[in-house]
Formats: sequence, C-alpha cells, structure tokens
Amino acid sequence: MPYPTLLSPITLGPLTLKNRLVMGSMHTGLEEGRDPAPLAAFYAERAAGGVGLIVTGGIAPNAHGAVFQGAAGLFSDADIAFHRSVTDAVHQNGGRIAMQILHAGRYAYVQGCVAPSPIKSPISPFTPRELTSAEVDAEISDFVTAALRARQAGYDGVEVMGSEGYFLNQFLVTHINKRSDDWGGPYENRMRAPVQAVARIRAALGPNFLIIYRLSLIDLIPNGSTWDQVLHLARAIKNAGANVLNTGIGWHEARVPTIATSVPRGAFVHLAARLKAAQILPVIATNRINTPGLAEDILARGDADMISMARPFLADSAFVAKAAAGQAAQIAPCIACNQACLDHTFSGKPATCLVNPRAGRELSLRYDPAPIFKRITIVGGGAAGMMAAIVAATRGHSVTLYEAAATLGGQLNLAKQVPGKEEFHGLVDWFTAEIARLGVAVYLNTRADLDKLRSADEVIIATGTAPRALDIDGADRALSYADVLRGAPVGPRVAVIGAGGIGFDVAEYLACGTHSPGLNLALWQREWGVGDPAAQAGGLTIPQPDAPARKVTLMQRKAGKLGRGLGKTTGWIHRAALAAKGVDMLAGVEYRAITKTGVLIAQGGVQRLIEADTVVICAGQTSQRDLADIAITAGLNVHIIGGADMAAELDAQRAIAQGAELAAVL
Ligand code: NAP
Ligand code: SF4
Repeated sequence: MPYPTLLSPITLGPLTLKNRLVMGSMHTGLEEGRDPAPLAAFYAERAAGGVGLIVTGGIAPNAHGAVFQGAAGLFSDADIAFHRSVTDAVHQNGGRIAMQILHAGRYAYVQGCVAPSPIKSPISPFTPRELTSAEVDAEISDFVTAALRARQAGYDGVEVMGSEGYFLNQFLVTHINKRSDDWGGPYENRMRAPVQAVARIRAALGPNFLIIYRLSLIDLIPNGSTWDQVLHLARAIKNAGANVLNTGIGWHEARVPTIATSVPRGAFVHLAARLKAAQILPVIATNRINTPGLAEDILARGDADMISMARPFLADSAFVAKAAAGQAAQIAPCIACNQACLDHTFSGKPATCLVNPRAGRELSLRYDPAPIFKRITIVGGGAAGMMAAIVAATRGHSVTLYEAAATLGGQLNLAKQVPGKEEFHGLVDWFTAEIARLGVAVYLNTRADLDKLRSADEVIIATGTAPRALDIDGADRALSYADVLRGAPVGPRVAVIGAGGIGFDVAEYLACGTHSPGLNLALWQREWGVGDPAAQAGGLTIPQPDAPARKVTLMQRKAGKLGRGLGKTTGWIHRAALAAKGVDMLAGVEYRAITKTGVLIAQGGVQRLIEADTVVICAGQTSQRDLADIAITAGLNVHIIGGADMAAELDAQRAIAQGAELAAVL
C-alpha cells in the first residue's frame, strides 16, 4: 500500500479516523452565506476524496469574538440548522468533521472587541476593551455553549483555537496580558483561560466527543512563549481533557512568513517532533506540508501522529484518494501562493484556488461530460491554454494543443526560476502530466497557423503576452524580464524598471543569486531570524541575511510605497525580502534614457543617473493575438483567453480560471 503510515487509521479518544490526514481549518467565505448548500458541497467533495478529518473554518462563540463584523458564529440555536446541512453532507460522504471554535479577541476586526488587556494589536485599528474577571468567565462559557451547539449540529468534535495570537493565546504572554486577577500574572494564571475552555467543554460534553486543542509552538513575536511554557500548557490541556494537540505556528502579527510559498516545505516539523517526543498527547504537524510523500516521511520518522494541511485540499479535493490509488502525480499541487484563497479572504471575497477554480464553486462550476463531443484546438500551452485543455479533455472533447516553445508552461516557466517560487516546478509538471494522461494531442515547437485551425469545431486562442517594450532613448540596451529569467547574463549592478509582481520577482532573483532560502531551511531561518523557542522566548532571533548577489535598484513611476499591488498576504514578505537584500526602491520616477552606464531618471524634477551594468524592463505586457484576429476574420469559432484576451493585470489565477470556465461550457 502506498503511504502506509499516512493512510493507517488512528484513534483519538472516542473517534477512530480512517487515515492520518486532517483538512485544517480555513475560512472559505461560504460560511457567511444564507444557503448552506455551497459550503456543504465544498466539504462533501473533500470528504468523498477520503480525508480522515475535516476541521471547519473558525466559527465564533459570540458576536464580539468574530474575526470580522458578520463573520460566521454559533450565536444561538437558530444557527444550528446551517451547520447540520454541512455535517450531514460530510457524513453521507464517509467523512468526519470537527468545528473550530475561534474567538479572535483583540484580532476581531470590530469596534467593541475584547481582550485580556486593552492593548491594540499591530494588525488592527481597534483597541480592545479589557474584560472584567467575570466577563472572562462568561467568554469561556460561550466556548462551552458553542461546543454544545456543535454537537447538536452533528459535528464529531471541536477544535479549540488556542494559537495564532487569537483570544486564548492572548492570555499567555505578559506584554498583552497585564492582568492582576486570576487570569493574569504568573503563567499558571495566564494559562487558566485556555485550560478552563478545554476543561469546561469536556465537563459539559462528557468523554464521547473529540476535543482538539490548537497549541502555538512558536509565537514568532517578541516576548512570546518559551518552550517550557508550551510544554507546561500542553500537559495542562491534556489533563483538562483534550484528545489531540494540533499545532499552530506564529501569531498573525508575526513578521516572519509561516505558510507562504517561500517558506521551505516542512519548515516547522522539528517543533512538532519535539512536542511529540514529550509524549503528552498525539500531535498534528502543520505548515508547508503539501505532498503525500512529505506527509508520509514525517509520520514514518515518528515526528508526528497526524498531518494537517488546508490549502492542498482546495487545490485537490481528491488528495487522499489519489494518494491511496498510487496516483500522487495526479494530485493538483497547492503552490502556497495564497492568491486565490487567503488573499481573497482578506479582500472579503470567497476563497477559491489558483490551481483549482472549482474550489468553493462545486455547485456552479462543473466539468460534466459534454453533451456533444467536439474537436477543440488550443493555441498556446501556458496556464490558460493548459487548463482549458485539461477541462475540455476531461469532459470528453478531442483536444489538440499547439505550443511554439519546446515545453509547456509559458510564463509559469519563468516564475519557477524565482527563488522561493520553486513550487511552480511541480505545477508545470502536473499540468504537463495531466495533459498527457488525458490524451491531448500536443504539438511542441509548433507555431499554429490558420490551416491548422480550420478543422476544429472550436478554437481557443491562448497565445499569451509579450513583455512591453519601452519607448525611451536607449531602450534597446535593456533586457526584458523574460530574457533575464531565461538566464541572460546580468552584471553586478542592476536597475529594474517597473515594480509590479514581475519587477519584484526579478529583483529577488537578481539579489538572491543562486541561493534560494526556500530550498535551504537553515539559510531561511537565518534570513528571517527564526530561532528556537527553547532558547529565545517566541523563537525570534536577529535576522542575518546573506549579502546580496547584486546591487539592485527597483523603480516605478507611481508615487507611494512599492509593491502596493502585490498579494494582500504576501506583499509584505516580498518587500521585507528585498529590503533585507539592500534593494533600493524608488517611487515617482521619470525615465529619461537608458545609457551605457545606467538609467537616467528624474525624481521630483531632479535628474540623476542610476548606475547599472544591466537594465531590466518589467513594465507589464501586451497581448499577442495576431492569430486570433486572423481566425476571426476567417469565420472560425474563436475564443480568446488569458493574456491574449487581456494583458493588464494578468496573473496565473485569472488565466487558469478563464481556461477552466470556458472549457466547462463548450
Ligand atoms: P504589473 O503588476 O502591471 O506591473 C507593471 C509595472 O510596470 C508597474 O510597476 C508599472 O508601474 C510599470 N509600468 C507600466 N507601464 C509602464 C511604462 N509604459 N513605462 C514604465 N513603466 C511601466 O505587471 P507585471 O509586474 O508584469 O505582472 C503581471 C501580472 O502578474 C500582474 O497581475 C501581477 O500581479 C502578477 N504577478 C504577481 C506576482 C506576485 O504577486 N508576487 C508575481 C509575478 C506576477 P508604474 O506605472 O508606476 O511605473
Ligand atoms: Fe494553494 Fe494558491 Fe490554491 Fe491557495 S490559491 S490553495 S495557496 S494553490
């Protein structure tokens, strides 16, 4: 059997799970809908895909503890019916589901949020109100009531959210908990709230209900918990009646990335292993674990009892079924980009997945067999064209794909050269393998012309974009980002024109050189100052980034901070990474000329030379659609997708979604 440890059952208190994979808690945005059907369908598909246990997105025990105004909660018995639809759907599909009780405390993005002490978090504009002693007690009672309602709603258990800097976690650290009553002061008092929450839920629900406690292993904030305190709390949580410890990494206000794609895979497993070695309760390892092979290795080594992953189940609901069938190569990989999941959540949009646009849209975006099988010809093997090919072939169409380059992948092949974006290798491999498996006729090194399109019932033009050339003196001296990422030689001083996503990527590529921290845990820990909570409270040390490989200057015409348009949850990481490499970031720049010695610019009317051996243009793209115009004129049935359709703000998410949505209706 493949992955024998991962796929072996495990008993947690009253519950035996069929395997050791947990779909971790993740807000989808469907929780706030009036109709439970989309959320039920989302989880039902994951349950049918074989995951051992699902943990829901955070459900608030009361309105002021909700992460944002109107966020989902179990505030009254009237809320139970919605959840019953979800649990029924999961159970009917052979799954198990626990509800996460999440009280956000001072992270609640609402006026009137509450906390142990009135200390505002750096990531919220709201100063919390300090709770009285009796009110802390009442908040814990709300946890218990939520757990009782969760059982009534049919959940198999609850996860008590005690990490990531949320309410219960806030009691533990002295610079946030300044109380002098029974809920503050010595650690024994500070841990009273989390311990009481678990103990009182256990007392109210009896032994036959799963309780997971999510424990922060490394806070990654100054004055965070020490390892001794983590262990002490873990023991107290066990005695309070929890069945298993899920692990949390970093508070949300931490300035260290914990789940982004640039974080090495399995970067925090050593801490889960240390907790497991203490033999307190079964331990669930988390963060940047996205393949069954890595999960199996962790479990087989004895570093954890279970593995939790959230985003990989967005990318592929059948993760476990494919692993069990020996088809791991068919699992659509989560590339940890956050673009369509967390970035959506933080923009108030429903979460979906860059790799799998069906995630969260199970009822509305379907790849059912086509009513009439057609001959579909696709031109362009980039993200949009490849996804269209996969969905069209899945639906039974006969698909032909022409690609001018020697390999499939298009712009994704450029992204995978960027340090910290190594996950793109797996994505291109997956696309390529799926296209082959589904019998798409692929012609590489082949430029399609009108003759090649004439026999098709439907033509899909996905010819992508070309880097925008600049109309300034000396522009021909510069390289395009595509030249650079394909390996063109670059000197020690570089000026980058354009600071969008690609300008940032190119700056990172040039400043990092060949050493990607994403592939080297020790280097990554040094760069971000990640230490050992046994040595430094909170696990923070002083960052010691390696010297930059080149002197890079990154420029934009707009005024204001560079990188504003980057991902909500990842932009700060890119900015911090470049700052650590000493990249100069210039805004409000007017480009006058590219000369032998650099770029002549003006800033605020003052002209100066940015000295550079190489100038790289990252000024966006223009659509390549000549063939589309020819095919339309010839009267063919033409659809244009991806960058060929619209170059502005094109990213892989839009390209893939557009390919899937079109092919789903042809
Ligand atoms: P982009 O985000 O649109 O950025 C283009 C950059 O070029 C901007 O900085 C723009 O700033 C500048 N520019 C535009 N026209 C110019 C001109 N005529 N002369 C000089 N400068 C000009 O495009 P991109 O960087 O090529 O990225 C393409 C897409 O991929 C975007 O949607 C991007 O979000 C996505 N992407 C995202 C990431 C990420 O989030 N990490 C990484 C890669 C790509 P000024 O106009 O202010 O000069
Ligand atoms: Fe993973 Fe990106 Fe999909 Fe989120 S959007 S689940 S990070 S691939």
